[in-house]
Amino acid sequence: MSHPSSPPADAEARRAVAPVICYPTETLPRPDLGLYQRARAGATKVAEVMVPARDAAVFQVAAGQFFRISSIEGPQVGDLNLWNQHDISERFYSGKTRALHGTHVTTGERLWTNLPSLRPMATIIADTLEWYGIDRYGGSVHDVIGTRCDPYTGHLLSGDPYHHCCHSNLTRALAGHLDVPLPEAEAHVHDVLNVFMCTGFTRDTGQYFMKASPVQPGDYLEFFAEIDLLGALSACPGGDCSSQHSSDTAACFPLLVEIYAPAQGALAGWRPPARNAYDRSHGA
Ligand SMILES: [Zn+2]
Repeated sequence: MSHPSSPPADAEARRAVAPVICYPTETLPRPDLGLYQRARAGATKVAEVMVPARDAAVFQVAAGQFFRISSIEGPQVGDLNLWNQHDISERFYSGKTRALHGTHVTTGERLWTNLPSLRPMATIIADTLEWYGIDRYGGSVHDVIGTRCDPYTGHLLSGDPYHHCCHSNLTRALAGHLDVPLPEAEAHVHDVLNVFMCTGFTRDTGQYFMKASPVQPGDYLEFFAEIDLLGALSACPGGDCSSQHSSDTAACFPLLVEIYAPAQGALAGWRPPARNAYDRSHGA
């Protein structure tokens, strides 16, 4: 096979140009993690939702409350969708969260909403897998690079209908919660935060890869809700994603979501962030 283009004489010099961070985050409003963690220390559990294996469940968290996603019975990854509880057209924006914080998120980083709101909807306040860092393959945990397993891609690649992909699980759960037809709910399902999933891009071909998640029962990822949230979490049919997804072959386990409310006055002075203040005139 011929190469589509031959390299110029200065190819190495051009490749050697140092990268520039697209979005330096020095001017990004910083969460007051100390305030959140102090409020969390005095918080009490107000609700819990069990997410069955190969299925999804919804949960609600008021602004100023906390939610924890835990591995309980065995290594399992979860696909998380989040919406503004009062206006589900405002939802988690995986792409911009990735652009701001990188391919994987951990303590102190935030989940942002879509345009035109673009504001923090949740802040990560604890991550028991933070120790993992970035492994020798370029893999790390809790990614915002994957989309979610879905039956359309499955059909494209294998032709098999499989109904318990995260996309379908999230769609059924949201439709049930909103009491709307499946196609209406499906339109609101979006690219996820892959909780506990260990992923990266291969350095040689740039392909998206997954590997066995380091998660074990007892591990958790915990968030502070910046706005009133509606969440949906799918316990991925890939289980720990060590081999395959979009089938019933992997060992799968439930996930636990727990909601905590802070003590009265613990968040004194804190207010939910406003929607983005850009005037939306777009130069017209
Ligand atoms: Zn999945």
